[in-house]
Amino acid sequence: MSVRRFFPTLIYQGKLRQRGWQDLNAQLLRECRQLRADDAGGRRWSARNYPGGYTSYDSASRMHEISPTFASLQQRLDRHVLEFARRLQFDLRHRRLSMTDCWVNIMARNVVHGLHLHPLATISGTYYVKTPPGCSALKFEDPRLERFMAAPPRRARLQRDNQTWVSIGAQAGALILFESWLRHEVAANPVRAERVSISFNYGWF
Ligand code: FE
Repeated sequence: MSVRRFFPTLIYQGKLRQRGWQDLNAQLLRECRQLRADDAGGRRWSARNYPGGYTSYDSASRMHEISPTFASLQQRLDRHVLEFARRLQFDLRHRRLSMTDCWVNIMARNVVHGLHLHPLATISGTYYVKTPPGCSALKFEDPRLERFMAAPPRRARLQRDNQTWVSIGAQAGALILFESWLRHEVAANPVRAERVSISFNYGWF
């Protein structure tokens, strides 16, 4: 008898390799806060859609094309995305995965990032700029959830790959990549200090 696992959901965790990511993060943090100060449209959009927080998702969503600092981050992220694509066994011989969107998220205390996915993107991810101790994790949902007809509840203690939700802690200098169809959320940030991250999409078309 054998029980085999098929159709895995891959989530990539990595860190920027080069020394000096702290310097990069310090500059990114300055630019994230400056953007919030300058971006009245983004602040208005955030007030309606991201209460208590700031995101440039609707207003400055191609930061890698505007800021050399974000462009430098993009260059460092590219190799991780390539490696993830290799592990996913994408056939990209005649195509390139390239960054299409890159935006800023600043979460103060109690700010929530509701459950969502990233339509029309291939690989999405987050890079952490500032992660005060105790700040919210990134939480992923089992993509088969809506098909679990008549499935009993799971035991309270179970192996990680049978869990319905998986949380991955936020850590400055670290990045998380996932396929863009995978739904995820960030629960209310319980700490006063701001949690700052940069989200991005890569596409192949
Ligand atoms: Fe997201």
